[in-house]
Amino acid sequence: MELCTKCGKKEIFLDNLCKECYQNKNPLLISFKPVKILVCFFCHRYFSKGKWTGFRKLENVVKDIVQKRLVFNDDAKINSFKLRPVIPKYKEGPNVKINIQTEITVFGTYPGKKTVLKEEYVLPVKVIFILCPRCSRHKSGYFEGILQLRDVDEEVIDYAVNEATKQNQRGIFITKKLKVRNGFDIYLTKRGYIHELSRELLNKFGGETKASKKLFSRDKQRSRDIYRINVLFRQSKFRKGDILKIDDELFKVRNIDRNITAVNIKTGKKKSIMPKQIRVRAAEEIKETMVSLVFPHVEILHPETFQSVKPENIKNRKFKVNQKVRVVVSDGKVWLVD
Ligand SMILES: [Zn+2]
Ligand SMILES: [Zn+2]
Repeated sequence: MELCTKCGKKEIFLDNLCKECYQNKNPLLISFKPVKILVCFFCHRYFSKGKWTGFRKLENVVKDIVQKRLVFNDDAKINSFKLRPVIPKYKEGPNVKINIQTEITVFGTYPGKKTVLKEEYVLPVKVIFILCPRCSRHKSGYFEGILQLRDVDEEVIDYAVNEATKQNQRGIFITKKLKVRNGFDIYLTKRGYIHELSRELLNKFGGETKASKKLFSRDKQRSRDIYRINVLFRQSKFRKGDILKIDDELFKVRNIDRNITAVNIKTGKKKSIMPKQIRVRAAEEIKETMVSLVFPHVEILHPETFQSVKPENIKNRKFKVNQKVRVVVSDGKVWLVD
């Protein structure tokens, strides 16, 4: 029986060495270098190979970067390896540093040998949270334009702010929010996105948009002018449920987006109307009154004269005396609106 030339054990694996001594001399994993990862705590991107890239899970970033740093033994056949970053609890913030122990397990075989050998390592990975250049520029008040919301419901402001906040990884930030007379201004870092968001508002809430640009400064290196843009969004003056009088007929607004969808309250027919075609100044006033008679036919109290009158549109509905109903009065006639 031959002995290991290094430790004297009664076992030969390869090159006159026992398994342990051979593996110490020729490990499956030759080297790994300590890893440092920069992460922007504001836009949630990490820095690698000269650029900032967005990510979802820090664990996957660590795995990806560690994997690229591993150098395996060319003489061995690597069957598989596993990476398991152990991430401590942490809070993101300026200059927060966390240490992540990454457990590496490698399985491989050596030439002429069937035995699968296993090696285990722990690689320290340091993650440092900072502000990336783009975000620090934004923090200093940079903006390319203003989305000006006018005559809008609270819902529109909430929607716009929410949507814009979701765009951080695209390099889009809200630099400033300002309540102004009649509305709300949102300062944003990307011109293109201001147009994009205003189109979205138009499609969702209906209304009109108007864009204008203002010379801001001049890029001397590329000799071109730099503009800031303002896009104004004014919400439609009508809302769902409004009654509009168009060409002497009454319509109830069902939906407002780029167009207005309305239902003729006499015929029940749907109609799509382009906002530009509407020459209606204001919606008809909706008033509340009550049913005064149900037999032999339905009558309600006229909300202005308090006389019992037959409404113009009954549509086979069942009513009870004293039941409250909502109506509009048009040319002295009373129309039910619900
Ligand atoms: Zn040995
Ligand atoms: Zn950033």
